[in-house]
Amino acid sequence: MSGTNWPKATHRFFYTDPGQGESVFFDSEEERDNAMADAISAYCDEGWSEEVDQIFAGVVSHTVEKCDVQTKPAPCAEHPDHDYGDNDCEACIAWDEFPNHEFDEVCNYKAVPFESAA
Ligand SMILES: [Zn+2]
Repeated sequence: MSGTNWPKATHRFFYTDPGQGESVFFDSEEERDNAMADAISAYCDEGWSEEVDQIFAGVVSHTVEKCDVQTKPAPCAEHPDHDYGDNDCEACIAWDEFPNHEFDEVCNYKAVPFESAA
């Protein structure tokens, strides 16, 4: 079986089996359908387990990607205390505008359609 545990642009067809706590992703609908049929069959031992009807399937449309990445600017060498007053010191302004100096990098995340994902 060529399923993966994570969606890729080439593996968008999935089924989810909450009873097993997993989703499996495939590169074709046919492969997914076959694997899903196997997963369904696995719930029949001596009668059907109730968990069988929790299985569902679909096609991934979006994933989440990092965006708006900002790297922490170097502190201004001329104004180490950032007391630049009324000067338009670009290095100080860049330092001030960085949202949180505890981090070397800040960013956001957003949903992106899978077609354009790398
Ligand atoms: Zn400065």
